[in-house]
Amino acid sequence: MKIKVISSQCNGCTLCIKKCPIQSIRLENKTAVILDSCNYCGICISVCPQKAIIKSLEDEVIAPVTNKSWVMMETKLNGEIDSTSYEMISKLRELNPTAHITAVLLSSTCKNIDTTLLGSVGADEVFLLQNPAFEEYNAVLFTKALVPYCQREEPAVFVFPATEMGRDLAPRIATELHTGLTADCTDLSIDPENGLLIQTRPAWDGNLMASIICPNRRPQMATIRPHVFPMNQDKDRSCTTRIEEYKNPVLPVEKITQRSVIESTFPDLEKQTIVIGVGRGIGSKDNVDLIWDFAQSIHAGIGCSRPLVDNGWLPHEVQVGMSGKAIAPKVYIALGISGSVQHLVGMQSSEYIIAVNKDENAPIFHHAHLSLVGDIKKMLPLLKDIVEKRKKLS
Ligand SMILES: Cc1cc2nc3c(=O)[nH]c(=O)nc-3n(C[C@H](O)[C@H](O)[C@H](O)COP(=O)(O)OP(=O)(O)OC[C@H]3O[C@@H](n4cnc5c(N)ncnc54)[C@H](O)[C@@H]3O)c2cc1C
Repeated sequence: MKIKVISSQCNGCTLCIKKCPIQSIRLENKTAVILDSCNYCGICISVCPQKAIIKSLEDEVIAPVTNKSWVMMETKLNGEIDSTSYEMISKLRELNPTAHITAVLLSSTCKNIDTTLLGSVGADEVFLLQNPAFEEYNAVLFTKALVPYCQREEPAVFVFPATEMGRDLAPRIATELHTGLTADCTDLSIDPENGLLIQTRPAWDGNLMASIICPNRRPQMATIRPHVFPMNQDKDRSCTTRIEEYKNPVLPVEKITQRSVIESTFPDLEKQTIVIGVGRGIGSKDNVDLIWDFAQSIHAGIGCSRPLVDNGWLPHEVQVGMSGKAIAPKVYIALGISGSVQHLVGMQSSEYIIAVNKDENAPIFHHAHLSLVGDIKKMLPLLKDIVEKRKKLS
């Protein structure tokens, strides 16, 4: 940790010199200079009226600031673009209506690019870096390709989906660019005082939410959990396409020789309109089977809290929450779930939340649109009725 003076902000008022208890600051060319004898007490930081004195981890000070935000797009194995990319663009547009937002894609083809959709969620342009070698994701190849473009175009913000690809690629790029990275964010906001991106993620086992900033380096980088932001669309917005042919790719040393799909008996949670979340309050594995029948009768998917996975009653692929999946269905029905922070981060973006719990003080009720206090088994017929009626309305 060092104390630095941002010379462009210092007006030479000498207040820091007067307040420094060990005379470790002097004035040179009307700018405060910190001497080697500084013991980092920080008094100068607190007294500086210009906010020109800062704590710094590095020798370098504030990086150039642009109004550019980049969003990494990911092509899934079936060729579709992962929806998290659209959600991230939508959020960045909401946060900064004047930002220039670029959707970045490394691909061998431009056929999956939907500029109408990208424009409507808030992208100004899609930047396609094209080469046959980009047909499949490769960490070394993608890092080597992207870094020079980041250095050239200096985005202020660069976000990635917190998917396997994003979690692998983002830290490599951050390392090359000597900048910070907040992994697995569940929210983003802007500090109204200085315009910095506040990156929020669960910390200490989810018992508190940490707000992290990257004041001195650019880009401000984060990976974002899928489905934590809604995809807001404005049909009047449009998006241009910029294609660059990437020359001389570094060919990967490793090669994918085989892919196998893991078959599941459970419907893909992220694609369900209605999800029934089962919690410990269900009591036993036999009762889970009862809920499974109910789910099928209303064409809903089934999700669960972590204790059910720990008990071996349901597989991890349907766990919702911090160490499971984040989902945003139209309706989420929480049955016997208390509403821990770790569970909430995975389902609180659902459009309509129904909670059933026998404890009227259960925290889940603070997040539910419809709260039903009572025993799960007694509530099931009532629930079926509510869901049928709501389906008819929508
Ligand atoms: C690092 C870490 C990561 C975690 N990740 C996750 C995660 O991804 N997802 C997750 O869910 N948890 C996660 N957890 C665990 C989390 O902290 C909670 O322990 C868990 O969410 C509690 O699950 P629950 O609500 O089903 O159980 P409980 O908290 O035990 O709640 C059961 C609820 O059921 C109600 N109930 C009981 N019987 C009935 C009945 N007959 N009818 C109606 N209601 C009834 C009770 O009133 C109670 O509110 C994580 C924890 C840690 C430390």
